[in-house]
Amino acid sequence: MLPAQVDNEVRRNGMQQTTIRRRVQCAGIGLHSGESVRLVLRPAAVDTGILFHAKTAGRARTIIPCPEAVDASGLASTLVRDGVSVGTVEHLLAALRGLGIDNIHVDIEGGEAPILDGSAAPFADLLEEAGLWPQGAPRRVFRLTRPFSLARGGKSITAVPGPGFLVDYSIDFPRTCIGRQRLVLDLTPETFRQVAGARTFGFAREVEALRARGLARGGSLDNAVVLNDEGVLNPEGLRAPDEFVRHKILDFIGDMAVLPFPLTGRFTVVCSGHSLNNEFLRLALRERAVAPSAQAVSASGRRLPSPPLLPVPACAG
Ligand SMILES: [Zn+2]
Repeated sequence: MLPAQVDNEVRRNGMQQTTIRRRVQCAGIGLHSGESVRLVLRPAAVDTGILFHAKTAGRARTIIPCPEAVDASGLASTLVRDGVSVGTVEHLLAALRGLGIDNIHVDIEGGEAPILDGSAAPFADLLEEAGLWPQGAPRRVFRLTRPFSLARGGKSITAVPGPGFLVDYSIDFPRTCIGRQRLVLDLTPETFRQVAGARTFGFAREVEALRARGLARGGSLDNAVVLNDEGVLNPEGLRAPDEFVRHKILDFIGDMAVLPFPLTGRFTVVCSGHSLNNEFLRLALRERAVAPSAQAVSASGRRLPSPPLLPVPACAG
């Protein structure tokens, strides 16, 4: 048991591990396969982390998200283990991280998380319908041990240590209606709603090229913002004038959520994507610029006495 005063501080600062109150499920189609897929979310015990139970073609595997298990070579992030994969997990992971859920079982049949409306809002709604269940134990986190940055061809991620999770994101799509957009988000379950509803986007010519490769079969104006040189093709228009940069922040939150515990820090991101996000995490871990915190940290950054540190779950990628 935790000493009473620690227990109180953990509760007051919302820094306790959290799961969901009850099992919930939904069904939809996979963005790339176009096939129907099923998702079940179940409560999990303290220190479980986010566990994916993937079933495809009669094979089942449990996948612990970790940077090495991510294939980010495509347009989405896919978790892979022993030939069994779960695609397009970043919006679900963003919703879990955004709402502060530490421990959960995620059952997926059909090889991909459902694309739903192309944003994280339906996942956030589903999780809120399940209800959040604080578990009393202090949250464990990964943190920056020092400033760390990665730049590639005009794209960059610069991270410095800090409490919470703050993202300053800029994008630049010259000669399109997107143009330059910038947004700063200090992530909490409340501010997460500013980006949760922002949809995936792509250019019509890219969608055609993806279809020719057998991808994006489930993609439509119902689950993506599609653009051509003149503007947005969706008849309903945009959900916010800066929906594009909001979606990039959503993807970044999801891509940073493939660690056993939540990552804390302050991030300045320029024109990044799934591939650079994943490379950043792999390098930062390898160079020990990102490491599990030996002690729980309160929202104000003050270190809390914590129970003995449990081993970090092994990467099963
Ligand atoms: Zn996305």
